[in-house]
Amino acid sequence: MRKKIAAANWKMNGTLTEARQLAEALVHASFSLHDHQQVVICPPFVYLMMLREMFAQQPHWHIGAQNCFTEVSGAYTGEISAAMLASIGVEYVIIGHSERRQYFHETGDMLARKLDVALQHGLKPIFCCGEPLDVRQQEGQDAYVLQQLQDSVFHLSAEQLSRLVIAYEPVWAIGTGLNATPEQAQQMHAFIRSCLAEQYGAEIAQSLTILYGGSLKAANAAELFACPDVDGGLVGGASLKAAEFIQIVHALSA
Ligand code: PEP
Repeated sequence: MRKKIAAANWKMNGTLTEARQLAEALVHASFSLHDHQQVVICPPFVYLMMLREMFAQQPHWHIGAQNCFTEVSGAYTGEISAAMLASIGVEYVIIGHSERRQYFHETGDMLARKLDVALQHGLKPIFCCGEPLDVRQQEGQDAYVLQQLQDSVFHLSAEQLSRLVIAYEPVWAIGTGLNATPEQAQQMHAFIRSCLAEQYGAEIAQSLTILYGGSLKAANAAELFACPDVDGGLVGGASLKAAEFIQIVHALSA
């Protein structure tokens, strides 16, 4: 059975006190998650160790970073490597978020390298792809997302790919309050799965978890998660409110 994931991307939000309060609210909420269902919390780097400890006794909860650098170590002031993340017990890492692509000019080649180093160190990358608004308006989303996969993912072996989670995040939906409709999400998820099937075979494509991201909230989670090729979500803004995110996790396990 495919893994279903509700992942929280806290982005650059929250002081230490706020991060602890949010995590405590999640730790104290009760969930009935099945073995194939997981929650991944991706806080800012500085809170990773605290959260790893807070969630250590929660079997379905995992910790992820929001980024890692292309190199393993060296004179790269301010950067964090995949080796460092693995050494503190981080399991997941978001790679290629549209905000990293847009504000930090991360290219397809850089993201390919980040996937390589993350996988080399045993991390599970959550690889983000998705088209901007002008591309969607010209109905170019399929070609755009396929190019993102070709640029950063298709050099991986089948074994490496099997350790990836893909997140389809249309840029026009991130932080805008405007989510993709279930039909739009299903169509793109099925398309991404078909691209992976063509490159790697149907079996591995069917086994991969593909998350939807973009203004996901308690009010729309259930209908998006009900789509056959949507295996959960990557949640930004709504993951900062405990009550909202708790409902999203409930929608995953409904
Ligand atoms: C994200 O940052 O990955 C995201 C989907 O943000 P939001 O849920 O706020 O649109």
